[in-house]
Amino acid sequence: MDWKEYPIALWQLLFPKFCPVCGEILHRNEERFCFACNLKIPRTFFHKTLENEALKRFYGRVDIERATSFYFYWKEDKYAKLIHLFKYKGDKKLAEILGRMAAWEIQESGFFDGVDYLVPVPLHRKRLRSRGYNQSEWLCRGISSVTGIAVHTQLITRNHYTMSQVSQNVHERWENLNEAFQVNESAVASLPAHAHIILVDDVLTTGATLTTCALTLKQAIPELKISIFTLAVAAKYL
Ligand SMILES: [Zn+2]
Repeated sequence: MDWKEYPIALWQLLFPKFCPVCGEILHRNEERFCFACNLKIPRTFFHKTLENEALKRFYGRVDIERATSFYFYWKEDKYAKLIHLFKYKGDKKLAEILGRMAAWEIQESGFFDGVDYLVPVPLHRKRLRSRGYNQSEWLCRGISSVTGIAVHTQLITRNHYTMSQVSQNVHERWENLNEAFQVNESAVASLPAHAHIILVDDVLTTGATLTTCALTLKQAIPELKISIFTLAVAAKYL
């Protein structure tokens, strides 16, 4: 070991960091979670097939160009912890890291080709205030660092405060999300003709939120091309 590395090693010895997935101590070249857990992330590889399960979720609801989700999500699964950390525990940097990692693996498929903007699904301002950040925006930052696609946060806003989606059935969710989004007219004017955007969200469940968001955008900009990226897809709904 180089002598310059001793202070770092000592720091790690005194204040070790742990992988949130397996609980093992992280090595200094491991960022947030360990290599072994990274390798075992239950990837969907949806991006390798155009007609995949993520895209099928929107059939008959709204016209979507491409859709993908990076990994499968089960509520009790150890990989659900990663989402919990960036969504409820303030670790927005983790969302950026995961976005970057996913983009790195997906970009070769051409999924991001020809896309003008990454658009995070907005939070209502009340929730934004209580959380302090939009986790989907941080996913976008990670994707953007790999693809160079700009992040657009002004295109759409969330109007109604939707209740937490826990213990609601699908029908109630649709009711709650009715007219929940509004397109910002001045931002629309700045879009290139026939723009292609990717709507970015953390987890794809029933697809209700993304459908409503996409429908609202299509209503305001009929020629807009919309693709969808979510970090995870709830396996329960497949
Ligand atoms: Zn681990």
